[in-house]
Amino acid sequence: MNTATPTEFPFEFAFLEEGFSAKDIVEQKINESSMTDDRDAFYICDLGDVLKKHLRWMRALPRVTPFYAVKCNDSQAVVRTLASQGIGFDCASKAEIQMVQSLGVDPSRIIYANPCKQVSQIKYAATHGVQMMTFDSEVELMKVARCHDNAKLVLRIATDDSKAVCRLSVKFGAPLKACRSLLERAKELGLDVVGVSFHVGSGCTDPRSFTQAIADAHCVFAMGNELGFGMNLLDIGGGFPGSDDSPIKFEEITAVINPALEKYFPVDTAVKIIAEPGRFYVASAYTLVVNIIAKKVIMDEESGSDEEDEGASEKTLMYYVNDGVYGSFNCILFDHAHCLPTLHKKPKPDEVMYPCSIWGPTCDGLDRIVEQCNLPELQVGDWLVFENMGAYTVAAASTFNGFQRPDIHYVMSRNAWQHMQQIHSQGLPAPMEESSLFEVPACCGRENCLKMPTHSCQTNVV
Ligand SMILES: *Cc1c(COP(=O)(O)O)cnc(C)c1O
Repeated sequence: MNTATPTEFPFEFAFLEEGFSAKDIVEQKINESSMTDDRDAFYICDLGDVLKKHLRWMRALPRVTPFYAVKCNDSQAVVRTLASQGIGFDCASKAEIQMVQSLGVDPSRIIYANPCKQVSQIKYAATHGVQMMTFDSEVELMKVARCHDNAKLVLRIATDDSKAVCRLSVKFGAPLKACRSLLERAKELGLDVVGVSFHVGSGCTDPRSFTQAIADAHCVFAMGNELGFGMNLLDIGGGFPGSDDSPIKFEEITAVINPALEKYFPVDTAVKIIAEPGRFYVASAYTLVVNIIAKKVIMDEESGSDEEDEGASEKTLMYYVNDGVYGSFNCILFDHAHCLPTLHKKPKPDEVMYPCSIWGPTCDGLDRIVEQCNLPELQVGDWLVFENMGAYTVAAASTFNGFQRPDIHYVMSRNAWQHMQQIHSQGLPAPMEESSLFEVPACCGRENCLKMPTHSCQTNVV
């Protein structure tokens, strides 16, 4: 493994050499750190996984152009990787617009998808060429009319998000019955409304939410066209799962979305369709590795009274690790995440498991990562691995109580790198060529090979 900094990709990442996966790098870093006392928590981010997600997106939703939701994970490495693929960006603030534009993204590839914006930030978008922006109220229309002459407005409608993990339609989205008067008001103000957007809620578990929202958007298109707007943009938002252990698979959702699009927005209507996926692109690319810094053994007094029949199971363990809910695990509070560790050392088949709780390093009682799980007896200095930690984690982590955010080590296989360069210069490969990039090789003969969804073998995976 060596560290590369090609000039057109100015951040550090390591190439994965032939036959190595990101999991091997986790192992390598753990071994390196274990030789020292400095066992800080760290991330491994596999940028090849982000690329694979993009190919997967294009395959499953060929009509839908993704505009990555920057708030989900605004790391430069991720944004640059996605920008190189010609993806667009959903920005919600001046700083996000600034960041994306500083990486050379054209303003036509940005949607300012925050329906409630500060006036000075609308002005910033106006002077920096960002035209597409969402709204869901009359007051927002008046603000835009005052300070953005060329805005291309997208009406955000509310959806039934009752089946989502994080609901959004309480805060955002106009109800269907308010849409006509909003469109009329936009007309009076001389504004240009070009389309409709929605968000079914983050962590959507019911694809029917998409069907209903697409049907509703179709109604609003009809209203807009009646009033003389050239309605040509449908934005189906985010809400797509980020890993394959979520309750519903990405392809199960897209299998419902595609026919709905075909029904309400057939190809010949020439409506451009975009989406704002966040979690989908980044969740599975990040693995967080934390170290046990303290431990308590709580003996269960009640059951201890009757001789020691199975003494071993009558204790509870508390593990304290060096990242918590004020850091990466803020996703537990803000994103309703349930995080469970995998063990670094595989337990022996007969290893005794104990009920455990896992706590973060700060002095706050709220700082608890896992309330109850079963783990073998571990020691201070041992490691715990949390997978799928890329979405809504580092983006909102604080340094409360003096605990620093973990370092992030970026890796990418040479194949992924070459593939990325190729897409960058020649566009996406034809579907036939591309599909072979996804096959998990049975050829590499390494232990666990078929069990690892992100396993990347040099021979034929991205
Ligand atoms: C947060 C957000 C997204 C991304 O949602 P995911 O569920 O992570 O895909 C997309 N669009 C808007 C407007 C958002 O607020």
